[in-house]
Amino acid sequence: MATNPAGTGIMENITPSDSPPSPSDAPPSSPVPSVPPNTPSSPSLSDPPTTPFPSLGQPSFPSASQTRDAKMPDLPEMESAGAQRQSQTSSSSSGKTSSLLRKKPRSRGASETSAGRIDPGTAFPPYDPRFSLSLSVSAANGAAAAQLPLDDNGRKKIVVLGTGDFGLALTTRLVQANYRVAVGSRDPERCRSKVEATGGIPMTHAEALRESVVVVLAVPFQHTGSLPLSSLANKIIIDVSNRNPKDRDSSGRSQAEHLQNLVPTARVVKAFNVLSAYTLSRGIRGSKEVPVCGDDRDARQLVSEIVKDIRLDPTDLGSLHSAREVEEIPFQFFTEWKFGVVLSTVVWCLMFVITLFRSQLCSNLENMHKPNFTWDWSGFDGIMRDNVSSSSAATAITLLALCYLPGVLAAYIQLARGTKYSEFPLWLDTWLKGRKHIGILMLWNAAIHAILVLSYSMGGVGMYDSTYSWRGPTYVACGAFTLLLAGVLGVASLPSVSASMTWREFSFVQSRVGWLVLLLASFHIIFNFWDSLVKDHFSCYFLPSIAQLCIVLPLLTLVLKLPLLTPCVDRSLTKIRQGYERVSLNSLSGV
Ligand code: NAP
Repeated sequence: MATNPAGTGIMENITPSDSPPSPSDAPPSSPVPSVPPNTPSSPSLSDPPTTPFPSLGQPSFPSASQTRDAKMPDLPEMESAGAQRQSQTSSSSSGKTSSLLRKKPRSRGASETSAGRIDPGTAFPPYDPRFSLSLSVSAANGAAAAQLPLDDNGRKKIVVLGTGDFGLALTTRLVQANYRVAVGSRDPERCRSKVEATGGIPMTHAEALRESVVVVLAVPFQHTGSLPLSSLANKIIIDVSNRNPKDRDSSGRSQAEHLQNLVPTARVVKAFNVLSAYTLSRGIRGSKEVPVCGDDRDARQLVSEIVKDIRLDPTDLGSLHSAREVEEIPFQFFTEWKFGVVLSTVVWCLMFVITLFRSQLCSNLENMHKPNFTWDWSGFDGIMRDNVSSSSAATAITLLALCYLPGVLAAYIQLARGTKYSEFPLWLDTWLKGRKHIGILMLWNAAIHAILVLSYSMGGVGMYDSTYSWRGPTYVACGAFTLLLAGVLGVASLPSVSASMTWREFSFVQSRVGWLVLLLASFHIIFNFWDSLVKDHFSCYFLPSIAQLCIVLPLLTLVLKLPLLTPCVDRSLTKIRQGYERVSLNSLSGV
């Protein structure tokens, strides 16, 4: 039976357009090509409702609009809420979106003309009225032809201004890629030895700038004014600077845009800033993705070639406007985690307080009125097992359900609206986008629970009561398999792993295996607390047990999922996710 995309998923992608693929959800009638999940032309990866444990850094899924534009009619295009939202505002000129970006930049790249100029009809209005004119001038005088000059040995010539850590690290990589690098310094003699150690050639700024039309500005942005800016005219300037969001001025413009204003005849391209000098000099082990943006397409392409030459992966983000976000990437601090962390913490604290009352406080509180009452501290001996371990387990299963529930809700919304082309409510959109982090936090909590249970059982504390008979081993096995398979989901969401999987493999893991994990986790609770789930245990000021609390969401999610699996509902949902609209989008504008 074909499942529909609704309600898969745990870990979601960072950018909306990469949002959870809709794995198993590909209907049999529309075969999904076997392409790796991060292949831009892969089928509708961007289906929020579908994939729970989407790749951690799953890069570069096309946004919904990009997928549509690419004319892939037969693919089950399942769209993420984020993708839907984003598709109205952005598209990168390359059709690829940086997974490094938390929010996609409002790219103007798509509005460029083929000549690489801003189209006044569609483009963002230039921030400087001289800007479009200056581009025409530079293109017309040919000074900034998008080609690097070669030296006598056929090596490409490039200039790096600045002999700090970053300038030297980049010089090293460029020299390794067989570039001739002229390194401009205020005092070439002072830095000669360290520049020559990289293979670069130390020069004054003026000498260096005569070497090539492409200049890497590796000087702190605040010192840009002290550079010979007039000599940068008509050059392609690669701006590598970063900006702390705290330093953002009221205009919101990026440093790269300011630089473009300072040298209007140059073509400024933002690149390399997401790398650190340390990683550049030690060799990249993590993400090799380098966002590239600039208002001139030829210049962007040339810089992308340079990025490739040093064995990194350029991601064309279109116009220089994207630099507003790109140059703040290195300063992002777990921004995407807030939702998941807050949710996880609230759930955990709630569970902990309930166990605290039920295991330690209530017995004391209920006896307080008795004569000769003394506070009984013995209950606190088992705080790690009774409170921390149980709270972590309850939080884990609640978070697991919270990974799948939004997908199910999204499916019902799509069914009710009869289209996938309308936006989800903001709360659902936020929830869908937060699934990746919720999934990781689920794993974290499950691991804490497993470690504590193992520690206690090694100390002789049994995992279950001897009266449990067959239920004991069954519940332990369900817990163990839950953890094992949840680990598989987590591992499959790593970019390096998901990149080696075909789309169907990835879909299978994230959808089918994900739902199996939820089912096993529910059995884990049910078999363990069989006797107490429905009866009594509303002791202690009518507080429910955490087993009663934490089973509600998983059961609700599973029950809501069931109707979506019936063939007729599945067919309708699949059609909707392939682009069929029961009603026109206009009629939904008031929804
Ligand atoms: P840095 O060490 O502070 O300075 C770089 C060089 O700029 C200096 O060695 C100096 O070279 C030149 N310089 C300093 N003050 C100057 C002035 N008043 N006028 C003209 N030139 C001056 O900086 P960095 O760490 O290499 O970073 C350079 C750029 O790369 C920055 O924009 C930074 O945001 C960006 N970046 C750095 C990293 C990193 O890991 N460091 C990572 C990503 C991006 P001379 O004395 O030879 O002229």
